[in-house]
Amino acid sequence: MSDPMYRIGDSRISGHGLIALSNIQANTVILEEAPLLHINTERASENFDLDAFLADETGQQSTIIQSGMHALNRSNRAAWDHFRNLQSGFRTRARTSVQDIGRVRRNAFSYDFQGQKWITAYHAICKANHSCRPHAVVDIAASGDNRGSARLIATTFIPADTEILIEYVVDDFFLRPTAQRQAELQPQYDFQCACLDCTNPAVSDPIRARMEGYAKDLKFPGLAWDRATETNQFLRAEGLTWQDLLDTAKAYISDLEKFGMIDPRLYGVYAWCARFYYDRGANEHAHRYSSQALGVIAQFFEGADTEGMGNIFAKTSASSMISRYRFNSM
Ligand SMILES: [Zn+2]
Repeated sequence: MSDPMYRIGDSRISGHGLIALSNIQANTVILEEAPLLHINTERASENFDLDAFLADETGQQSTIIQSGMHALNRSNRAAWDHFRNLQSGFRTRARTSVQDIGRVRRNAFSYDFQGQKWITAYHAICKANHSCRPHAVVDIAASGDNRGSARLIATTFIPADTEILIEYVVDDFFLRPTAQRQAELQPQYDFQCACLDCTNPAVSDPIRARMEGYAKDLKFPGLAWDRATETNQFLRAEGLTWQDLLDTAKAYISDLEKFGMIDPRLYGVYAWCARFYYDRGANEHAHRYSSQALGVIAQFFEGADTEGMGNIFAKTSASSMISRYRFNSM
């Protein structure tokens, strides 16, 4: 077992945080841990009523979380108590279960498995605070023997003694303007984000708006980038050329790199850029984009079943495509 890359310490943002013990390179797995809490939050019913479910989701979650708490085994219960005691600011006289629900709401993660939503909480990863300019992502295994376990992966270089920050809201969150991001964070996590971007929206918002435009033009996630026929049909319909898409993809990737961000949906775009250059015999460019596509696969999809991810990320098609590119370039 190698030395830990982080310690749990006081955060400049809120409560406890994860602090880098040494310099951490991008794409490093900082830590991997099994969940303390792993609960299916869906009611199984043949007559599932979504509106009714949403209407009383809070009540349902309370019941489910409480029963999950009761079902904790002795060591997880001790770990959860430890986690709970580390959380400052909740020393109210409210019933323990009510406090637990608040903690889960603010700290837990969720993922989909076979159409049902599961929530998970972790000893260390749950202590990572939020930034709209994060250093790392949390990758939760959505299937397999270790389903529910999570890895914290650096998306950018993290200097020693830096607090390791993640983005609490995923998907397209990072493309939205500051006011919208804050409006989403506040009710769910009870805090006002004061990251560099939130305090300088005049600087960061135009870049995010530009990136949102690129992402729209790249048609995430509707376009299957690994299927040339479909892409060609799309291009004809839009009056675009492959070069147009390539230019958009390159501009988007360049902005992402400036932000120290990764968009897993880009796997297909990297692969597509590689294909574009292989077809034109520019092997050096092609290899660069191939390796970036492989980097995304290694980070997010290697060793994992692709259940719950879009078809665009299917690992099998990714592998066969990459090998095809390599074959073509020989
Ligand atoms: Zn922020």
